[in-house]
Amino acid sequence: MSRKKIVAGNWKMNTDLSQSIDLINQLKIKTKQFSHIEKIIFPPFPFLKTASDSLANETNFFVGAQNCSQHIKGAFTGEVSAEMLNAVACKFVLVGHSERRNFFNETDEQLILKIQQAQKNKLTVIFCFGEKLEERKNNKHFETVKQQIEMVLKNFSATELATIYLAYEPVWAIGTGETATPQQAQEMHAYIRKIIAQLFSNAVAEKINILYGGSCNAQNAAELFSCADVDGGLIGGASLKTDDFCKIISSF
Ligand code: PEP
Repeated sequence: MSRKKIVAGNWKMNTDLSQSIDLINQLKIKTKQFSHIEKIIFPPFPFLKTASDSLANETNFFVGAQNCSQHIKGAFTGEVSAEMLNAVACKFVLVGHSERRNFFNETDEQLILKIQQAQKNKLTVIFCFGEKLEERKNNKHFETVKQQIEMVLKNFSATELATIYLAYEPVWAIGTGETATPQQAQEMHAYIRKIIAQLFSNAVAEKINILYGGSCNAQNAAELFSCADVDGGLIGGASLKTDDFCKIISSF
């Protein structure tokens, strides 16, 4: 089955306003020939409106937020609701990124609520998960990933899953320069599809988009993207450099 090809750039807490405008303007020009690839950028909150205005007329090029609140509205100082993201034309939101899980102690219960809020506000979720180094060393990576997926996704229907992409991001590979080998990525992605088939159906598993994330760059993207069950990448560091990000987009 042929699935979409997707490249997403997680800018994290990087760029200032002029750098983000510059990056977007360059990407608009340099990715014109890749309209068949779904491109998503995740700038910091204050730059989302500028980004979505700038990309409003682009083909297959969207803006997402790096996080959203689990709450609808109210006295939650510092939080940003899914409704607010929808109001500034965000189409995507990251949920469960390891930096949110590990530095901000986000729990499965919170992730479920965040996905519910995202779905109520028409945002496609990129649900992230992945094992830590210790877990891989102890051969617990499959078990960890299975649990992370099941604990959250068992609360959603097959119809709801249609607006969720998955991102396998081994924590030991994020920002470390150490990438999963194509064999490791393919093995895990195939396993993830098996879990989804068990939770939902073979048809749902075949259809769901699964991205790889973790030190994916201009040099290794082609090999990773050539794996049968890898539908694209969630890119951190390399998404901040126009030429590198474009090279990754051209790697399919
Ligand atoms: C990420 O933060 O999602 C990520 C994949 O980062 P990096 O590409 O820098 O490892």
